[in-house]
Amino acid sequence: MKIYISVDIEGVCGTTTWGEVTRGNAEYLEFQRQMTREVSAACEGAFQAGATEIVIKDAHSTACNIIAEELPENTVLIRGWSRHPYMMMQELDSSFDGALMLGYHSFAGGGGNPLAHTISDTRISSIDINGRPASEFLINYYTAMLEKVPVLFISGDREVCDHAAEIVPGIGTVAVKTGLGNSTINIHPKNAAEMIKNGVCRALSGSSWGYLQELPEKFKITISYTNNQDSYKAAFYPGVKLISPRTVNFESNNYFDVLRLFLFTL
Ligand SMILES: [Zn+2]
Repeated sequence: MKIYISVDIEGVCGTTTWGEVTRGNAEYLEFQRQMTREVSAACEGAFQAGATEIVIKDAHSTACNIIAEELPENTVLIRGWSRHPYMMMQELDSSFDGALMLGYHSFAGGGGNPLAHTISDTRISSIDINGRPASEFLINYYTAMLEKVPVLFISGDREVCDHAAEIVPGIGTVAVKTGLGNSTINIHPKNAAEMIKNGVCRALSGSSWGYLQELPEKFKITISYTNNQDSYKAAFYPGVKLISPRTVNFESNNYFDVLRLFLFTL
C-alpha cells in the first residue's frame, strides 16, 4: 500500500500567528516540531494499517519545514518546490493507493483560522471553483482525482475538516483546533498526534477505502485579488477575463489547465 501525504502548517495544532509559521523566527521552532510530530504520527498510523511506502510533501512556504531525522524511517520527503502545477501534491501519480492531508487550514475568506488563506496569504482575497470557496484542500483534492487517488484523511482546523467532509463524504477528519477571531482553541499537541495516528489507521482500514468521486465536467474559476495590479496582469493569461477591477474569470473542462492557471496567476 503506497500512501502520499501533503503537509501544511497553518492547520497544525497551536499555530496562531504568522511569526509562528515563518522560518527564521524564534517562535517558529516549536511549531516546526509539532508539524513534524503530526506527520510522524500519521506515518505510524499508516504503517500500522499496512502501508509499505510513504511519500511526504512538505507543502508550506519554503517547503523546508519538516525535520527529516525525526520522521519514521522508510519514508521519502519532498522539500522545496519543483514549480510543477501539482504544487502541494508534487510527485503524486496513479501508483498511489491513497492520499492524506495534514495541517490544512480554512480557505481565503473563511473565518475558521486566524491564518486562513488560499495559496497566497497576501495577494488573494478569494478563489471560487464552480461557485464553492476553493480551499487548498479542494484544489489538491481535485488534483488527486486527476490521478484517481482517493483522499482518505485530513487534519487541520475545524472549518477545513467540515468543508472536506462536505466534499468527500466518509473522509477521516481530525480537527486539532478551532479558530475564533484572531485566536485558536487547541487540543493538547500530544493528543493531536495520537488522534491523527489513530484517525489515519482507521481511515486506511475503513470501509471508505478506495471511494473515488468523478471530477466535475466543467470548471468555472473566479479569482479575487487584493490589489488591481495582480488582476490586471492575470487578465493577460490565455482565456482569463477581467470582470471587475480586482476579479477575473476562467473556464475550462480540463483540470490540469486550471492548475496551470493557478501556477501562473496566484
Ligand atoms: Zn496553506
